[in-house]
Amino acid sequence: MNADGQQIATLVRKVLDQLVAEGPLSPVAGCDGIFATIDDAVEAAVAAQRKLLPMTLLKRKEIIANIRGHVLENNERIARLAVEETHLGRVEDKIRENILCAEKTPGVEDIQPVAISGDHGLMLLEYAPVGIIGALTPITNPTGTIINNAISMISAGNSVVFNCHPSARETSRQVVRLIHRAIVAAGGPAGLVGMVEEPTLDTARDLVAHPKINLLVATGGRAVVDVVLRSGKKAIGAGAGNPPCLVDETANIRRAAECIVNGASINNNIFCICEKEVIVVREVENALVKFIQETGRAYLLSDEESARVTKLVVNDGAINAKYIGKDVQIILRDVGINVDEACRLAIFRAPPDHPLVWKEQMMPVLPIVCVEGVQEGIELAVKVEKGNRHTAIMHSTNVENMTAFARAIQTTIFVKNAPCYAGIGLGGEGHTSFTIAGPTGEGLTSARTFTRQRRCVLSESFRII
Ligand code: NAD
Repeated sequence: MNADGQQIATLVRKVLDQLVAEGPLSPVAGCDGIFATIDDAVEAAVAAQRKLLPMTLLKRKEIIANIRGHVLENNERIARLAVEETHLGRVEDKIRENILCAEKTPGVEDIQPVAISGDHGLMLLEYAPVGIIGALTPITNPTGTIINNAISMISAGNSVVFNCHPSARETSRQVVRLIHRAIVAAGGPAGLVGMVEEPTLDTARDLVAHPKINLLVATGGRAVVDVVLRSGKKAIGAGAGNPPCLVDETANIRRAAECIVNGASINNNIFCICEKEVIVVREVENALVKFIQETGRAYLLSDEESARVTKLVVNDGAINAKYIGKDVQIILRDVGINVDEACRLAIFRAPPDHPLVWKEQMMPVLPIVCVEGVQEGIELAVKVEKGNRHTAIMHSTNVENMTAFARAIQTTIFVKNAPCYAGIGLGGEGHTSFTIAGPTGEGLTSARTFTRQRRCVLSESFRII
């Protein structure tokens, strides 16, 4: 046999070994992470997690590095697909979202153990995997949420079965598939991430009820968070927001205007953290509106125009889904207003009881409410945030005002003098998360969130000093 023949024989043996190692669950080999049923996906996830556990942390790091690399290589394709399939957001912003998730989601370093040594010996605290996670993901960020969740959950040693939003199923399949390929190519087990080929509300229920799921994670609106919290399992809920942005008379108004346009228009306002209403102190209201217009990227609606837009986008008190995540040009065109291509946002002066102040509109139409003073602004902002404990933004140079607002509103993310997205690490310090768990309190989730703590104690002196 020549050298080529030997190489082929070695290769064939390796493939056969792998098939044998994967056992009779042959659907897993070549499944690419896509399964016919929740049961198939969960069984594969159980087998995969069992294989991951004895692997070294170095191997886990290699798997995570490969996931990051595959995402970045395929970024434009999945960003484009997400916008084409869901008709939400902007391709250039989805690309930023994917880079953010690939690069700033913490990896294995997030589960560094803690050791304490003292007169009574040694205590070691380790962050162990919870096991098999069932994760429900939203239509608004099908790529970012899956990338972010997969990196965090696998870094912690878990496997994950996603039930993705049915209206983002092809994008979700593509993202799960590429993550799955990255895992296997790095020597990780097949089946570590998975989803059902046709996700529906029924498959979501199957996932929530599956006895082998150890932890449920819901990223979405209030209803799905309630579903996982009622499941009887350990659950993490990352729910809706309605982030108010408060501007007081001490703010750098030009900078505030720039930040508001950038924040409220990113991805056509579909991020849960986006500024959804501005509350401004009367003394600086005109200046703020003028500076927002001077960015050249925002259109000020007259009272008559804003009434027409409101009628279009709010039906019977509910947001008209047809306009969620759409470009401002599309929304305004449907009421007969044409704006140039550079425009990203429509703003309008609104009374405090305007429906877009209270609803999570998720579109680039931003109400601006005027108040007499900062205290009145804080009180209104707390009411419109509705106890979501999600995100709030403030533009001010008065530390006392900022502290008063932060204390009153109690949000998970509080951004000062920056666009909302600084709060998820885009142009701001800190890691990113696309599962911001306000209702259950884990905050910006990361690998450590998806662990259980285990303590090991050695009760004899174990000090080297
Ligand atoms: P959604 O609640 O309609 O759907 C989210 C996921 O839950 C989907 O996979 C959906 O199929 C599933 N789902 C919905 N209702 C269900 C039910 N009764 N039983 C089982 N599964 C159910 O949300 P969406 O429209 O896809 O996303 C937008 C919402 O998500 C906004 O409110 C936004 O603020 C929120 N969001 C929050 C975060 C966060 O980190 N807190 C991140 C992104 C989006």
